[in-house]
Amino acid sequence: RFQVVELGPPIEVFQLNKLCVEDSYQNKVNLGVGAYRDEHGKPWVLPVVRNMEKQMAEDATLLHEYLPVLGMEQFSAASVSMLLGEDNPVIAAGRAFGVQTLSGTGSLRVGAEFLNKHLKATTFYYSTPTWENHHLVFVNSGFTNPRSYRYWNEKTRAIDFDGLIEDLKNAPENSVILLHACAHNPTGIDPTQEQWEKIADVMEERKLFPFFDSAYQGFASGDLDKDAWAVRYFVKRGFELLCAQSYAKNFGLYNERVGNLTFVISDAACAAAMRSQLTWVVRGMYSNPPAHGARVVANVLANKQLFDQWRDHIKMMSSRVIQMREALRAELIKLGTPGNWDHIVKQIGLFSYTGLTPRQVEHLIQEHHIYLLKSGRINICGLNPSNVQYVAAAIHDAVTK
Ligand code: PMP
Repeated sequence: RFQVVELGPPIEVFQLNKLCVEDSYQNKVNLGVGAYRDEHGKPWVLPVVRNMEKQMAEDATLLHEYLPVLGMEQFSAASVSMLLGEDNPVIAAGRAFGVQTLSGTGSLRVGAEFLNKHLKATTFYYSTPTWENHHLVFVNSGFTNPRSYRYWNEKTRAIDFDGLIEDLKNAPENSVILLHACAHNPTGIDPTQEQWEKIADVMEERKLFPFFDSAYQGFASGDLDKDAWAVRYFVKRGFELLCAQSYAKNFGLYNERVGNLTFVISDAACAAAMRSQLTWVVRGMYSNPPAHGARVVANVLANKQLFDQWRDHIKMMSSRVIQMREALRAELIKLGTPGNWDHIVKQIGLFSYTGLTPRQVEHLIQEHHIYLLKSGRINICGLNPSNVQYVAAAIHDAVTK
């Protein structure tokens, strides 16, 4: 019976990672997978997380009972405050609430299924390019009409803003528009505040629905408020919206699947019915979320001293990324590598869209054991003071070949 099953295509980022792990070359460099690495190229468990986990391990009052279907209230409330700012009037007005989800992906999935089931939404727009999972998550949630809006201009290595606006203007009413809250993946280029204002104007006029994806709050600039500016701006303008939040990057809790889905609505009276229907969406998908990571995050966010420690950690991670951007650009300039490399320092977040061609990428992998995606996207954290010269020299070689 299973002979009918055909081999599926590989997931590029996982396949690339496997190739890198299997490569025995001593100076290999992994610029593929989207996770933080410290200055020695190692994964990093945030000390505030490690300490909290030790404390929790000793706490006999913590049980392994089921959480409610919509997760831990305290965690969701803290997540909504972190996203919108604790003084945001929509919170006091009961116009914002959160649901604990399985990291950012699970948030997008629950949100998309809810919009499809209860608002009959079938059209969604994603940026070209975008995180490669957006399309699949929305299609699996019942969205039958995937569309894209222009975002990246290859020539200028900047946003194709006119294209973006034109595509939004042509979108049918009530389309769901997927927006990256900050640190756009994969390009690392976000709209400016003025550009966000224009995007909001068009979306208001065309009655388009914003679904933000916030996978990097605090991780991008080191400043939680700055990285939430776009979402807060849309809320201030009076939009109803959804926002998927992930704690994978900013807490380093990748495999614990800790996320939150924030809803901002116009009429607080709708919240009870919405929550009850969300309960059924989650019930049929995974019944209820895991507790461990959400407890860690909730405890850290609730304690001023721990919160400050965590803020120092995210500042440290984001400044290391920024330093490595500068170091790579400086090395390329020193080598006289043809082309302009300013975009590397203009982009923010984990990734840089280098503009390297598929042929140059292949050369880097085959000849230099430097692993990066076909699109030319690199994870800046893969760079460190010991390998940045090696990587720059290899890029120089690939570009001048
Ligand atoms: N959205 C974007 C834009 C991302 O980059 C990621 C992580 N790569 C996610 C969502 C979701 O990640 P996770 O499910 O691990 O939180």
